Amino acid sequence: MESFDALTSLVAGGGVVVLSGAGLSTESGIPDYRGPSGVAQRHTPMTFQAFTRDPLARRRYWARSHLGWRLIAGAAPNAGHRAVAGLQHAGLVDTVITQNVDGLHGAAGSPSVIELHGRLDEVTCLDCGNLTSREELHRRLREANPEFVARVAAVNPDGDVDLPDEQVAAFRPVDCGICGTGMLKPDVVFFGETVPAQRVARCFAAVEQARSLLVLGSSLTVMSGRRFVIRAAKRGIPVAIVNQGPTRGDGHATVCVDAPLGAVLPQLAARVGAGAPLGV
Ligand SMILES: [Zn+2]
Repeated sequence: MESFDALTSLVAGGGVVVLSGAGLSTESGIPDYRGPSGVAQRHTPMTFQAFTRDPLARRRYWARSHLGWRLIAGAAPNAGHRAVAGLQHAGLVDTVITQNVDGLHGAAGSPSVIELHGRLDEVTCLDCGNLTSREELHRRLREANPEFVARVAAVNPDGDVDLPDEQVAAFRPVDCGICGTGMLKPDVVFFGETVPAQRVARCFAAVEQARSLLVLGSSLTVMSGRRFVIRAAKRGIPVAIVNQGPTRGDGHATVCVDAPLGAVLPQLAARVGAGAPLGV
């Protein structure tokens, strides 16, 4: 396959910065809200404005998220994540920038990951700013809602939970356990919220120093990730994209591979002598 050969020689050259998206985690059972499954059409993503201003929206978010968390917490990295970690340990990939909030790059052994949109396993208080663990919040939510999980045992396999209004109304969110009254929010960047400027600056700096930018499993729909592709292209840094289906960055790419990541990435790692350390 011609494009796979081009991809291989680009990565073999080293100095790669990876930009990963939801498509890399679908094989770990985490739904891609913009992927071909079309889940996005059924749910409007939560905005920061709705979350902070509308108590009902916030309650609905926590009720659904309380159920979905079991899926995220139970997810394990897949062959694609392990291949990326292998490429990093082999010194070919310098930095991973991920749009994913599932922490699976780190779980696969990747050092140096910039989590562009934050992490779902951490919770921040919008008043006192303290960061606490999601596991701890999960325990507190379970205690505050002892009957809730039992009543909504029918969770779809993709973690997509449709809750009737009366069940949402019965859910009791909790406030910050440290200051006692602050509003809690998962430490992820919602729609309508900006990524912290320092974090964006670190990403741009990494991209500008890269010999190539490798996009993995992102349709680049959101400017939050697409801007790095545009920057690389402007600087004459080659961009390679591995994704199932077309992306909004294809026009900037020198190589596009349309194939499942769990198959392509271990092959790629093997070809450049960076086989995943844990095996696949
Ligand atoms: Zn607080």
